[in-house]
This record gives sequence, C-alpha cells and structure tokens, in this order.
Amino acid sequence: MKTPRLPLEGSCLCGMVRVSLSASPLLTLACHCRGCQKLCASDYSLTAMFPADSFSITGDVARGGLRSKGREHFYCHSCLGFVYSRIAGADERINLRISVLDDAAALPPFVEVMTDEKQDWAEVSVAHSYCRFPETAEDLQRLMAQYSKGWP
Ligand SMILES: [Zn+2]
Ligand SMILES: [Zn+2]
Repeated sequence: MKTPRLPLEGSCLCGMVRVSLSASPLLTLACHCRGCQKLCASDYSLTAMFPADSFSITGDVARGGLRSKGREHFYCHSCLGFVYSRIAGADERINLRISVLDDAAALPPFVEVMTDEKQDWAEVSVAHSYCRFPETAEDLQRLMAQYSKGWP
C-alpha cells in the first residue's frame, strides 16, 4: 500500500470546509447498506476512520442525514457536500468521507461491509468482506491492527 505523507488534507466540493488529519487512518471501508446508498447518492459509501484528536476542520458545517442521536452526519454549509460523521459511543473516532481528501486515491477501502444489501454491479476490491458488520469489537480491533501494518 502506498503511504501518503501526513498531514492528510482535503476539502468539500466548494472548498469552504477544509479538513486536516495528523494521524494515519485507523481503517478504510466501503459500506453497501441501503442507508449509505441514499445518504451518498451512490452505490456505496467510502469511509476512512481517524482518531478524533487527529482531526481538525475549518468552515461551517451543518448536520444532515436522519439527525439521529446515535449518528451525526456533517455537511458543508454552502455546497451541502457530506464531509464526516460521528457515532455516539465511539467518540474517539471520526468517519471521514474518503472523497473529501485531496489524495483520495491513496486510501483504497480495506474492508467492505453490508454486502447483503449490495447492488449487483457494485464490485469493490478489498481484503475483507462482510455480509453485515464485523461481529465484535475484537474483530474490529483485529482489522485495524492488520490495516495499520501498511502505515508507518
Ligand atoms: Zn462546500
Ligand atoms: Zn452503510
């Protein structure tokens, strides 16, 4: 795997929101669930998880998606592009849309999840595939440990 230099930088479509990541991603994944298809107006979503304390952001964001308590989705206030999300109970991580990064090609998905809801034509090249999600926190830790070997 190619390892881009830190910090990783990126922006929304219009450039009003800029992000910077001072740490390597913890995991990259494609999610094929119907929710992600609708949320991203695409066949699947691409996410890079980062430690929350490595993430800095400038520009105004607005909450969108379903605005649930458990899951917060943040969009650029101007172009309304999806930038990142947070999951309640996993506050130590943020989930960045890979498309936001300037060098998005450097972070291919390592895992795909929710292939039960995958569109037939959506093929993603990954190391691990799950019909739903990794079952336990230990499974997720193991995936992150394996993924981190590709990073300095
Ligand atoms: Zn924008
Ligand atoms: Zn999903």
